[in-house]
This record gives sequence, C-alpha cells and structure tokens, in this order.
Amino acid sequence: MAQIIQAVRGMNDILPPESFLWQYAERLIRTVIQSYGYQEIRVPVVEKTELFKRSIGEVTDIVEKEMYTFLDRNQETLTLRPELTAGTVRAGIEHGLLYNQIQRLWYMGPCFRHERPQKGRYRQFYQVGAEAFGLEGPDIDAEIISLTASLLEKLGIRQLAKLQINSIGTTDCRKEYRKLLVNYLKAHKSELDEDSVHRMVKNPMRVLDSKNPEMKHIIANAPKLLDHLDEISVKHFEKLQEYLNHAGIQFEVNPCLVRGLDYYTRTVFEWVTDHLGAQGTLCAGGRYDNLVEQLGGKATPALGFAMGMERVILLMQEENAGRIPERLHAYVITDSEGAFVAGLKLANYLRGKIPSIRVTMHCGGGNLKAQFKKADKSGAGYAIIIGEHELKTHSVSLKNLREELPQQTLYQDELAEYLKLKTKK
Ligand code: ATP
Ligand code: MG
Repeated sequence: MAQIIQAVRGMNDILPPESFLWQYAERLIRTVIQSYGYQEIRVPVVEKTELFKRSIGEVTDIVEKEMYTFLDRNQETLTLRPELTAGTVRAGIEHGLLYNQIQRLWYMGPCFRHERPQKGRYRQFYQVGAEAFGLEGPDIDAEIISLTASLLEKLGIRQLAKLQINSIGTTDCRKEYRKLLVNYLKAHKSELDEDSVHRMVKNPMRVLDSKNPEMKHIIANAPKLLDHLDEISVKHFEKLQEYLNHAGIQFEVNPCLVRGLDYYTRTVFEWVTDHLGAQGTLCAGGRYDNLVEQLGGKATPALGFAMGMERVILLMQEENAGRIPERLHAYVITDSEGAFVAGLKLANYLRGKIPSIRVTMHCGGGNLKAQFKKADKSGAGYAIIIGEHELKTHSVSLKNLREELPQQTLYQDELAEYLKLKTKK
C-alpha cells in the first residue's frame, strides 16, 4: 500500500459532526454582526509581505517568528495572512471605501501563523472580526465591545469569559512613557528573558506583552502607561467606561494589557477565559488610529476586533451549547431502474418544495431489506419507498424509522405537505 500523506502539523481538518457546530456558530455570528449593520468584506488569503511588516510591526511575535512567507514564481515575497485587519485596510484604501466616510466591515476566514501547536493554538486557524472606520469617539468603541459581548452571549459562552480593557494612549504620550519603561527594564535587565532584552531595545512596549510566566512579576511592577496618558485619551477612556456601565457590560481595567500588534492606539480590549489552558484570549481588539495613514491612506480613525473560532468552538463544546441535531429527514429507497429514476425526481421535487429538507437517495444497489437497514443506519427520520406498486400508482410509501407507526401511502404532493410539517424546526 502507498504511504499515507498526513495533514500539515497544526492545520486541522474539521470533520462531521463537528462541522455542524461550526456551521451553527458561523450562522449565528453572521446574524449578530449583520444585525449591528456591519457589511462583509472578503480579502485574499495571500498578501504582499510588506503589508504585514508595515502594519503589524517588525518587532512583534507575528512578523519576527510566525509568518508563512514564500517567494512565488515571479520572485515576489508573499505571505499567508496571519490576521485580517491589514488586508481589510489595504482593500479599503485601494477601493476608496475609507475616504471621508464611515465604514463598518466584518470578515471571517482562515489565518496562518507558524506557532507551536497545542490546544487552542494552531498554524491554520479561523478568525471572525469587525472593523469600523471614520469614527474617533468612544461611542464606537462601546458599540464594537457591545457587539463582541452579544456574540459571546448568543454563542452561549459569555459566562466563561471576562472583558478586560485598557488605554495605551497615542504615539505621542507613549514617547515619554517609553523612557520610563526602558529605565525600569534596564534596572531589571538581569531578570529579563532573551526575547525581552531584545524587545527592550527595539520595542519596549512589547515586553509587557510577554507570555513567559517568569516575566509576570516584572511586568506587574512596571510603570503603567495608564498613569501617563494625555488628557484626551483619559477622557476617551473614561467615557468608554461610562458607556459600558450604562450598557450593563461588566469589565475590568487591566493596566498591563498592551496587545501584541504595533498598530493599536488608545482603547485596547480582550475577552479572556481560564477554560482554555494557556490560550487565555478568546477575542481581542482595539483602536488603531494611525494604521490607515501608515498604509498610505488619508489619516482615518479606526478600530476593530478579531475572535478565534477554534477557541469559540472549544468553549461551546464545553458548554454543550448549540448542539442541534442535523440528521437526515428522509432516505429514499427503490427497487428497480425505473423506481430509482422516479426517486431522483421525487427527491428534487421535495428539495424544491422544502428548502430546509435533508433527503438522500440510496445508491449502491441491494434488495429492499438491505436498503432499509442502510436507511435506518443513516439516522434519517423516514424512509421513502418506491417499489413496483408505487411506480404504477404514482405514489410513494412512507415509513417512520423512529416510531412504531403503520406505513402510509401518499401522493407526491401529500408527501411534500407531510414532510413540510415534520421538518419545521
Ligand atoms: P495569543 O495571545 O493567544 O497569541 P494574539 O494576541 O496573537 O493571541 P490576535 O493576533 O489578537 O491574537 O488574534 C485574535 C484572536 O485570534 C486571538 O484572541 C485568538 O482567539 C485567535 N488566535 C490567534 N492566534 C491563534 C492561533 N495560533 N490559533 C488559534 N487561534 C488563534
Ligand atoms: Mg499570538
């Protein structure tokens, strides 16, 4: 036998029945996001590497260690997207969606990062997110956060997560703070890990984002940016908290929250959970007022969030949330060439009349008894039988496979009416 080829490490197959749960979650998410008036954008999976370097920042985990970058056949440097904000902003600028206007966009799709695979952390994973452009006040921050709260609520997992918020001010006020932070870090240099020493020089704020548990106490005692914010950032942050309180959205201020990407300004937030081991962040986002300009557009305030679908699904499984049975409604069995052809037509007729129906034809031959067994095993609610008699009388027989009831003979229209009632959710 030929050798088996396995999937790439850290890249998952999503198999049935789990794929039902994905579909269920995706449907819910679409409905919730669109109920806030956001419109979907779909951007390519591959972008020019430069886009991610310039937006996410050179001295970040993603750009330094995690990107899937390759030369294509034209010797152009391309990268599989590690997130979707950069592509969304690129597309927004390229197509004039962001120029002097307000835009609310959302997306869902696969992202790629070369990380060490473990529960909740993969090399291909799915993100869903939203971005709002052209609004600078804390009102839209509150709207976006409230959208994330609704998502978690509807997915049935909000009770497993806590909202943390912080403000990291503007680039200007970070300059002053940076000096303080570097002084502090220098004083503790012997306790810093290798990554942090490197970051202390190139991008000291990144040290605060370290995942190394041994760095925790150093981070906790570091000077807080929150104490050095400019006045407008302070007001912005206070107003956001006021709005969240009015909306009944509980939160805690975490002065150590900085986020791992360079483009953030002012508001940053995360929904964190202690149900996923080391992978504590379920959903993360913030304001990035400089990014559009940084990518060549006109200066445009913006903010957004992204949520990891695998982590959502893991939590939903833990809560047993949204497990709707998606079994077949009907399984058609036939005992001749002619009956099979009639069955094909009938199944299509039913699919046309009842769009939500799931009906499968028996294929692969065998006598009626063997087909009945397959029908039963398929999990279908009903077997639809077309034999010689039914073919002659243009009728079908219907057998309930889950309850002891007598078999009925029905005409095509009657069958459709009957199944319509039975397939109503
Ligand atoms: P983490 O702290 O877990 O590394 P991050 O700060 O790198 O996350 P973001 O870039 O903000 O994450 O991505 C937003 C969300 O996408 C995360 O909160 C998480 O739910 C999800 N995510 C990020 N990286 C992965 C991954 N490798 N596998 C699965 N989900 C991921
Ligand atoms: Mg990460």
